[in-house]
Amino acid sequence: MSNFISSYFTNKQTFSFEIFPPKGELSIETARTLVGELAKFAPDWISVTFSAGGSGNSGSTVAIAGEMQEQYGVTSLAHLTCMGASKEEIAERIAELKAAGVQNVLALRGDRMPGHEIVDFRYAADLVPQLKEAGFCVGGACYPEGHVECLDFSTSIGRLKAKQDSGTDFLVTQLFFDNEYFYRFREACDRARIKIPVTVGVMPFTSVAQIQRMAFTCGASIPSQVIKRLVAAGNDAEATRRAGIEFMCEQLRDLAANGVDGLHIYTMNRPDVAQAAYDTLVDCGYIHA
Ligand code: FAD
Repeated sequence: MSNFISSYFTNKQTFSFEIFPPKGELSIETARTLVGELAKFAPDWISVTFSAGGSGNSGSTVAIAGEMQEQYGVTSLAHLTCMGASKEEIAERIAELKAAGVQNVLALRGDRMPGHEIVDFRYAADLVPQLKEAGFCVGGACYPEGHVECLDFSTSIGRLKAKQDSGTDFLVTQLFFDNEYFYRFREACDRARIKIPVTVGVMPFTSVAQIQRMAFTCGASIPSQVIKRLVAAGNDAEATRRAGIEFMCEQLRDLAANGVDGLHIYTMNRPDVAQAAYDTLVDCGYIHA
């Protein structure tokens, strides 16, 4: 049975979640419980991140992505990075994904890391043909503010067009805290004839340290509206978390009102984030409960 994510966009606006695999000693049992909680919201799919770095959790991406389909009937999207990998290593990952019944893959380059030199793949677009040949529905990352390594926005859009032309079926955006960046990006995609569906990734801020990290790793701007809310919450960690969720819900309402292809919630493995997003989207009529 096919559960290609690209086909979902033709029927309706989608609603999905991202989780990351448990790190260190945390067992796959933890992920199982989390997926069970998220499955209650009947998302169109749940994506599972992949860490090629030192966290040692890359193996569980496939296991979690496979299990969520078998146990909860939730379509999965497994992330896969290609930086530092050879074609043979990717062929092994493909075999694992197929054995687990995963049909959707988010093709990524991965962040530059010491020791991860280019082997067979320079860019995410180079990974797409091998995945398409293996029969996957393939997603790609996109950046409403432009990718952090690329200084020129129109160059960033040109490279995204090349990503579409490589066979990518749909896109998932990087987080942003000012929706105007997304609307500007969407117009630029239209002008560049980027026609594949774009699902919009939204994440709540949780602390000053987290948002500063985001700004430097993803190049996301921090608008004054966010700074003011962080200032108002002061040193109160709980008030900051609440403010982050409230701000995310405002972003979601505005995006829903402006007609997006899909909304993708970066849950950070927190069911309360998923719950708040779900309630907001039911309330504004984006999701029909
Ligand atoms: P690419 O599309 O290859 O782009 C990387 C850079 O190369 C960009 O600056 C681009 O402009 C430039 N470029 C592309 N093509 C060309 C070309 N032909 N010539 C010159 N320059 C070019 N990372 C993880 O490690 N694990 C994850 O699970 C993960 N999940 C993510 C999910 C989403 C939705 C997003 C948005 C990002 C995710 N990332 C993840 C982070 C991602 O790996 C980084 O953002 C990485 O720096 C770029 O990945 P990419 O696939 O967009 O790369």
